[in-house]
Amino acid sequence: MSEVRRDILTDTWVIVLTESTEIPMDHRTLRKPPAVCPFDAGHESQTPPEIFALRSDHTLPNQPGWQVRVVPNKNPVLRIEGKLNREGVGIHDKVSGIGANEVIIETPEHITNLHSLGAQQISLVFKTYQARILDLYQDKRFRYVLVFKDYGALAGASTIEHSHSQLIALPATPQQIKSELAGAKAYFEYKERCIFCDIIANELEDQSRVVLETSHFVVLAPYASRFPFELLIFPKRHTYSFEIVTPDEIANIGEVLQRIMKALYDTLSDPPYNYILHTSPNRLPQRGYWLTIQDDFHWHLEIIPRVKRTDGFEWGSGFFINPVPPETVALKLKEKL
Ligand SMILES: [Zn+2]
Ligand SMILES: [Zn+2]
Ligand SMILES: [Zn+2]
Repeated sequence: MSEVRRDILTDTWVIVLTESTEIPMDHRTLRKPPAVCPFDAGHESQTPPEIFALRSDHTLPNQPGWQVRVVPNKNPVLRIEGKLNREGVGIHDKVSGIGANEVIIETPEHITNLHSLGAQQISLVFKTYQARILDLYQDKRFRYVLVFKDYGALAGASTIEHSHSQLIALPATPQQIKSELAGAKAYFEYKERCIFCDIIANELEDQSRVVLETSHFVVLAPYASRFPFELLIFPKRHTYSFEIVTPDEIANIGEVLQRIMKALYDTLSDPPYNYILHTSPNRLPQRGYWLTIQDDFHWHLEIIPRVKRTDGFEWGSGFFINPVPPETVALKLKEKL
């Protein structure tokens, strides 16, 4: 089991695995991938039963014939059963560890790099994200669904190298999202415009940090990038949530990701990275709370290559030191596109 504890000083939530006896030794351990990959087609019995799959007609669940397959994480950080309880512990605050932790297996073939999947297959992965968010947002206990990808040990990836991503459905909206929502709401109240739409328009005019523009998307190296080669992918159409992305946009994002991830791979020699989908929280349990969210929030994908370690000053201050200006990043990546 796990508990979701709130830091009352900073309003950040921490998932504490209360029954775990394992002490991580990531700094000492050379981790080896399993001898037989459990994510390959034909090895379906080695994972928990599937929750969802895009598969060919007349094929059976947990059998080959799928293109993208979603299974529960074998070691979930949150569990789906149970009631959402919030309780005080002295001056502290916790909620029960209710949630969902799913693994999205991005290909039936043993491919390790996202860009090697090809644009069409990547689109199927994003189509799956949308289906899972729509399904999990039916459940009022889940306040937020965070879709993310860890690639490489330095980015926190497991020992399974087969291309996959994850999602965690949370009983509380994460602080990072809350601060983006609050910033967007404040800007909207002042200017009556979406801050993200304004950033996109400004960057397209300036061009120096634009890495790629396609029919539906813009890829930017953000003005105040915290990390070297940090990238943001925005839909050009004002869209608050990934829930309402269109099939055309899904088709286009496969192409965008394929080109961008290949350019990062070539420029940084196969870097570890994380990407994170920032979409709207589940509005079902909190009607009236974020009344303007459809107007003021704008979903996006954040890509963070993990090529520089975070030091004490950065941890302690939240001031990041970035040795690669985003203008340089845009120039370098455009050469490889
Ligand atoms: Zn595999
Ligand atoms: Zn917008
Ligand atoms: Zn964001």
